[in-house]
Amino acid sequence: MAGSRVFQESVRDLLHRPGEMRERSRVLDAPEKLGEGLAWVPEGEAIELELRLESVHEGVLVSAEVRTTVHAECGRCLRDFTTPFRVEFQELFAYTPSEADEYGVHGDHVDLEPPLRDAVVLALPFQPVCRPDCPGLDPESGELREAEAVVAPGADLDPRWAALAGFEAGPSDRAGEVEAEDEPGSGGNPGSASK
Ligand SMILES: [Zn+2]
Repeated sequence: MAGSRVFQESVRDLLHRPGEMRERSRVLDAPEKLGEGLAWVPEGEAIELELRLESVHEGVLVSAEVRTTVHAECGRCLRDFTTPFRVEFQELFAYTPSEADEYGVHGDHVDLEPPLRDAVVLALPFQPVCRPDCPGLDPESGELREAEAVVAPGADLDPRWAALAGFEAGPSDRAGEVEAEDEPGSGGNPGSASK
């Protein structure tokens, strides 16, 4: 064994003692990037684990609550953002694994990394959005369709922008939610050319 693998949890005091139970908290660092899509847990990101380990006849039943921070690229506006992430998994580590895909007790410990990795990767969002009402990109211009981006255009831009700016100037419902420093109700005002 190479050094101290943090994902290995000792179950020495649970072996062959059905009914025994332990609860433990752990904070681990992601050993590598988890996830291949638009959302991932980067290498080194802190992963909090709330573990419940129960001794059963067949082995040790591990129930885990996982909390970490997911980094993602918004599927609508393509901006990077981070969001809290939580997932649970439960896995039996058998003394004598009967199937190839069954986890086993190794000596006096169990290796939490495979089930933890699977649980996290499978629960990552396929199409993350930075916020539920993200307006995304304008299909014509590729620019952000947000209040702070829409307020900016000068007089020489595509007339579609002017129409959009006029729309923004109307109801102030959406503008109120955006943490923009621009005055929200003055769409098309050339004085606020900086976004
Ligand atoms: Zn977005």
